[in-house]
Amino acid sequence: MIESGGELGGRRLAPGERFNFACRPGLACFNTCCRDKRLPLLPYDFLRLRRALDLPAAQVLAKRVELEADPVSGWPALRVKLTEKGVCPFVTDQGCSVYAHRPTCCRVYPLARAVRPGTGGGPPQEVFLRQDTPGCLGWDQPEELDAAAWVTQQGLAPYQAANNYSLRLFMHPARRGEVSLNQQQTHAFISALYNLEAFRPLVESPGFGDKFGFDDQRVARALADEEELLKLGVDWLAGVLFE
Ligand code: SF4
Ligand code: SF4
Repeated sequence: MIESGGELGGRRLAPGERFNFACRPGLACFNTCCRDKRLPLLPYDFLRLRRALDLPAAQVLAKRVELEADPVSGWPALRVKLTEKGVCPFVTDQGCSVYAHRPTCCRVYPLARAVRPGTGGGPPQEVFLRQDTPGCLGWDQPEELDAAAWVTQQGLAPYQAANNYSLRLFMHPARRGEVSLNQQQTHAFISALYNLEAFRPLVESPGFGDKFGFDDQRVARALADEEELLKLGVDWLAGVLFE
C-alpha cells in the first residue's frame, strides 16, 4: 500500500535522517504543487474531506472523485478529480481550502510513505522517500527535521492509524496477487469504505452482528462514531471478500 501521490520514486530516507524543508505562503512556489498530480483518496482521507465539505458522501463521490483500478494491486482506487486545467479543485489563492482535512498524500508530501503489515503481529513497517520535485523551494529553507517530526508537524497520526488499520483488508493474507472485483463487490467496497451513509443502514439492520460475526458492543460503537464505522467497514469487507 502506497500512501503517496503517483509513482513511488525518490531516495529512501534512513531512519532518523534529517533534511531541510519548510512550506509556507510567501514562497514563490506557493500553490504551484496543487496541480498536475494524482491525489489518491484513501478511505479515511475521504471521510475527512467529506467532513470538510459538509456534503453527503454520494454528492462528493459524484462531483469530486474519480475511480480507477490500481494498476498494481487491482483494488478500486479513488482520487480527487482535477479541473480541466489539471488543478486541484480545493486550491485557492490563499492556499488549500480544506487544509485542516487535506488528504494523506498532501500531508506527507514532499515525502512519500510506503507501508506493509508487520511480521508476527508487530507494527506495520514503513519507509519514507524524498520527492525532490523541480521548482519546490521548500528544500532550500533553513528548517531541519526528520520524517518523524514531519509526520507530527503535518498531523498525520490519525491518517496513518486509519490507513494502517485498512492493511488488514488491502493486504489480507488470503489475497492472491491482483484483485479483480465484480460490479457488486465494487459497490460494496465503495459503500463500506467511502459512502458510510449507505453502509450504515446495513449495520443497523436486524441480525447484522450475528450474521457477520460482530458483537453488540462493536456494532454500537460503529453506529455512534464514524471512525469506528469505517473500521467496521474494513473488517466487514475483508470478511465478505476473503473469509
Ligand atoms: S514549498 Fe514545495 S510543497 Fe510548499 S508550496 Fe512550494 S512547491 Fe508546494
Ligand atoms: S487538497 Fe489542498 S493541499 Fe491537497 S492538492 Fe488540493 S489544494 Fe493542495
